Amino acid sequence: MKLRLQFRRYRAPFRAAVRTAHGMWAEREGLIVRLENEAGAVGYGEAAPIPWFGTETVEEDEAGGRALGEWTTQEQIAAVPARLGCLKNALAAALAEVGRVSDPPSDISSAKGRVADPPYLGVAALLPAGRAALAQIEPRAELGFRVFKWKVGVGDAADELGLLDDVCAALPSGAKLRLDANGAWDRRTAERWLERCAERPVEYVEQPCFADAAQSDAARRKADDCLLGLAGDFPTPIALDESVVGAGDIERWIGAGWPGVFVIKPALVADVAAALAALEKARAAVVFSSALETAVGARAALRVAFAWRGEPDSTGAPQVRALGFGVWPLFADGRFDGPIAMPFLRAEDVARINPEAVWTALS
Ligand code: MG
Repeated sequence: MKLRLQFRRYRAPFRAAVRTAHGMWAEREGLIVRLENEAGAVGYGEAAPIPWFGTETVEEDEAGGRALGEWTTQEQIAAVPARLGCLKNALAAALAEVGRVSDPPSDISSAKGRVADPPYLGVAALLPAGRAALAQIEPRAELGFRVFKWKVGVGDAADELGLLDDVCAALPSGAKLRLDANGAWDRRTAERWLERCAERPVEYVEQPCFADAAQSDAARRKADDCLLGLAGDFPTPIALDESVVGAGDIERWIGAGWPGVFVIKPALVADVAAALAALEKARAAVVFSSALETAVGARAALRVAFAWRGEPDSTGAPQVRALGFGVWPLFADGRFDGPIAMPFLRAEDVARINPEAVWTALS
């Protein structure tokens, strides 16, 4: 079956610049891809690479899309090189949608042997770094948020650690705190934090240490050993985020018997179905998270989260941890945003996202 491929590049400024380990990030860049089969069924996908996070560049994805040409086939799409992971992700999402449109799953086949998708999923509230987090907890708790994510590793580690008890004290009862260090700590600093976290309502500590692709093999091995060591030495789970962005990372950490959490940004995974099958088989703890993509990529990512059945709770029922999608409103142009961050995201809100609106906004 021949498929018509079109893509539009976007450059979408954030409402407010995002602070990252690589400085301030002012605008999102990526590609929206559109596939249409000969019967007129249309699907959209988004390639939203983050080069400093270990992905390819938008230019490379654009060249990869151009190489496919205006008319392509499923076989040619499958042969897009693995290094263009975000483009592969976009094409797979668009292709899956073309398939759903032209051959919608019947109720019987989609329900067979599967637990129904949850009607809604919880969302984690994002707290700013440092003392500014304190004032944000109560208003968000009043909205109903019960999972809070606090950025750490931004200011002085001792000052931040001194705030931990105040942050915990401000949480509503039964709430959980996620700490995200974005790889900023050395092992000793991470140990000091994990000692303190043990008796506190900390769901996990995300990426305490990290060595990126630009560093030596020895440095990366050391960071991996550090993560495995910390996971073995402390009761608070450790979550991998930056560590599971590269090709093969998820499988490698599953193979290493990673006992902690996997933060999965579906938008950055080349073959989402294969990665999730591996995680599901390993009964891994997964948190689905935004890569600050537009509504097109977020829709595909959230569909994956709603379909996730990997981690059983204490009764054996599937559970989905609070989503890392409390990011909207995110863009200066609201047409690129997904549903506004509330404590819960409903499946029908995801279904209502209209990728064509983003596509049209770029014409
Ligand atoms: Mg993170």
